[in-house]
Amino acid sequence: MKAYRIRDEMNGVEEPPGKTWFWELQAGVIDADRCIQCGTCVAVCPSNSIGVDEDTELPELVKMCTGCSLCWDFCPRGGLRYEALWPPATLEGEGTTDGAIVRADASDNYWKITGGPPGDGLGAVMDSYSVRAGARPDHAQDGGVVTALLIAALAGGEIDGALVTRPSDDPDEPWKGVAHLATTAREIIEAAGSYYNQTMALAELDLSKYDLPAKPRIAVVGTPCEIQGIRAMQSRRWPTGAHRIDAVVLTIALLCTKSFDYQGLMLQLLRDDRGIDIERVSKVDVIRGRMIVEYRDGEVAVDEPIKNFHGAALKGCDECADFLGRSADLSVGSVGAMDGWSSVLVRTERGRRALDNARGRLDFRELDNPEALVKLDAFDKRIAFDSLRRPFDPDAPLFIDYADHVSAYEGSDRAPVVADH
Ligand SMILES: Cc1cc2nc3c(=O)[nH]c(=O)nc-3n(C[C@H](O)[C@H](O)[C@H](O)COP(=O)(O)OP(=O)(O)OC[C@H]3O[C@@H](n4cnc5c(N)ncnc54)[C@H](O)[C@@H]3O)c2cc1C
Ligand code: SF4
Ligand code: SF4
Repeated sequence: MKAYRIRDEMNGVEEPPGKTWFWELQAGVIDADRCIQCGTCVAVCPSNSIGVDEDTELPELVKMCTGCSLCWDFCPRGGLRYEALWPPATLEGEGTTDGAIVRADASDNYWKITGGPPGDGLGAVMDSYSVRAGARPDHAQDGGVVTALLIAALAGGEIDGALVTRPSDDPDEPWKGVAHLATTAREIIEAAGSYYNQTMALAELDLSKYDLPAKPRIAVVGTPCEIQGIRAMQSRRWPTGAHRIDAVVLTIALLCTKSFDYQGLMLQLLRDDRGIDIERVSKVDVIRGRMIVEYRDGEVAVDEPIKNFHGAALKGCDECADFLGRSADLSVGSVGAMDGWSSVLVRTERGRRALDNARGRLDFRELDNPEALVKLDAFDKRIAFDSLRRPFDPDAPLFIDYADHVSAYEGSDRAPVVADH
């Protein structure tokens, strides 16, 4: 293991007590196949000692580890203390927090793995809607809300760029999402749609290769674990090397029950096993417990239960209980809204401002089915509990019956379209 080699080279360096080293993160998370490729460890390292391995796309030590412990302390699969992300104090001064719950005692173990105490519904929510953009790119995933919000924020001078996920330029990697800082409306539009792979997104917060003002302001669109990493780093101020956590002024979480290994899902299970022509694919969607893949001509190439693809899902996602992106300014998803619309949960005053700035570009209606969100969140938490209870064996089957995954979507069938537009 590279990290251990570097450690060997450090022999003779006195090791103070109480330190946690990168190789402990490597053993406990990365080599244990629990890493969810959020990039937090790369972003938090004050000596820029952690990079991304080009082949595995996992974190790797690129220079000497100082044993500062931060990679472990902030890793969502390591020592990140979730309860520190959502204390009431983080909401103070951010306007009305109707519906915000008073958090349980920080020593409550439940918090560490569930993203909130049982039965807290949608978490801290100021407003909730079903929303769609008036004009949206064809490849927008649902209502095109995220794209419209970012364009409005850029046009209004609220941000200088947005960390999004765009398709890889590499012809050998069709339908692979890669992290990118979009600084124009065109780049934001090109990045619309969902890519079902993680990107080590927060590693891209080293903004030095982009042409930005001295004090840049950026929005980040991410899966909930990525937003947890940002929120944790921002709430516990710490020098973060080259990575500009301080520049993040808006966070948008995409609702998420799992992500996938790109090679395993797109190349093996879809291209090789099912003969899918990836070049012709226009949309990949995980919805109502099913994997749906569509071609550009409208043909549905795959429509199967999501359990058939579980082999390519990231193992670390089983432990995740934050379906709803509770630490973000805005959470956006498909569940809870009717087809062609996005469900939007406004969690902070910053999130509300961003939505208000885009109002002219958006249609609003009452959130169609909040119960569907609560139900899927409860299901997600059950998986997290079961995955932690099972004996450590990455290949062991989950205790959970995946038939439940489908039933968790019952009631999430989209409401009939009401002609209010
Ligand atoms: C891995 C994954 C799992 C998801 N699971 C669920 C789910 O279980 N239930 C649910 O309701 N919704 C889920 N979503 C969210 C849903 O697919 C849509 O992203 C959401 O409804 C917003 O749609 P939109 O049309 O408003 O966004 P768009 O206007 O299409 O914009 C989408 C934005 O997301 C960014 N993006 C795309 N892929 C990624 C990625 N991998 N990581 C970070 N950013 C990305 C794009 O760059 C773009 O800026 C998931 C999304 C992802 C990426
Ligand atoms: S889960 Fe995130 S923080 Fe933890 S090792 Fe993986 S990339 Fe780093
Ligand atoms: S399921 Fe959780 S850990 Fe996995 S990508 Fe989604 S938010 Fe991250």
